[in-house]
Amino acid sequence: QQNLVDTYTFDNFVEGKSNQLALAAARQVAENPGDSYNPLFLYGGVGLGKTHLMHAVGNALKRSKPNAKIVYLHSERFVADMVKALQLNAISDFKRYYRTVDALLIDDIQFFAKKDRSQEEFFHTFNALLEGGQQMILTCDRYPKEIDGLEERLKSRFGWGLTVAVEPPELETRVAILMKKATQARINLPPDAAFFIAQRIRSNVRELEGALKRVIASAHFTKRDIDIELIKDSLKDLLALQDKQVSLDNIQRTVAEYYKIKVADLMSRRRSRSVARPRQVAMALAKELTNHSLPEIGDSFGGRDHTTVLHACRKIKELRETDADIREDYKNLLRSLTT
Ligand code: ADP
Ligand code: MG
Repeated sequence: QQNLVDTYTFDNFVEGKSNQLALAAARQVAENPGDSYNPLFLYGGVGLGKTHLMHAVGNALKRSKPNAKIVYLHSERFVADMVKALQLNAISDFKRYYRTVDALLIDDIQFFAKKDRSQEEFFHTFNALLEGGQQMILTCDRYPKEIDGLEERLKSRFGWGLTVAVEPPELETRVAILMKKATQARINLPPDAAFFIAQRIRSNVRELEGALKRVIASAHFTKRDIDIELIKDSLKDLLALQDKQVSLDNIQRTVAEYYKIKVADLMSRRRSRSVARPRQVAMALAKELTNHSLPEIGDSFGGRDHTTVLHACRKIKELRETDADIREDYKNLLRSLTT
């Protein structure tokens, strides 16, 4: 049971500012497993390459030590196996299995949260491996100290080796990733087309890969070359969704312009009706058109409390039913922000 994905290698991983540290650390671990970077703890949002890097280390170790026992598994699998072992009265086999590995790679350990018995078992396994100089690599979708329902002693131990963040890739890296994936698929992706996709798909590498796959499939089926027109056609829904993601900045500028006030007025403490009402409208639009939380929205309006935002949203909702001017303003603003 190795479960290593053989295409997740260092060679297939595109380096960028966002993943530089994580990549360097992973390479270091591949060269000197069980040494000072134990455990290697990678954290960051989904689709940013944590699983890929973890496998890359596993694959490199496999190459340099073909007989090494390298075990990769998702933390949910660890939990499930442990539960099964408990039911079958085989917990000592379970323990022995994990303690004899040369390297243990456990993905998405946020799933250990609130699973007390699994944490207990993992804690002992962790200590045994560390003592034996066996390498561990762990990933998580957030900083370990921020995982609710995880024992303090585990959180602290996770920091004994090296903890590195993986950040969302910046534009140049997104372009480079697209070009690399296109080359691997033997597809001719013109640089301006790669740039166009990278500019619009900003969330993570998995989304980027998904978009490229759709473009390639559509080029294949329509027998067209990949250009910006083809991309617009094949990613129509995705791009429309992206465009709807209006920024707070944009909302504030549009609202200020509409009411002929300054953006600074929206952020200010001024409470006069001529400023306060547009501010409330802008907050309500921000709630409707962005994924920002109430505190984030409050923050962007000169550091206001989330309850102020909530109040603004309620007030505007009420006014849109009772006040024809506000109803009209809101409709106009909504239209100019989304088309
Ligand atoms: P995570 O585990 O952080 O959610 P993954 O490792 O599963 O993310 O990565 C998602 C996809 O994106 C995978 O197919 C992976 O190969 C690819 N990927 C992520 N980062 C890179 C990169 N820097 N270079 C090449 N491919 C990448
Ligand atoms: Mg992953």
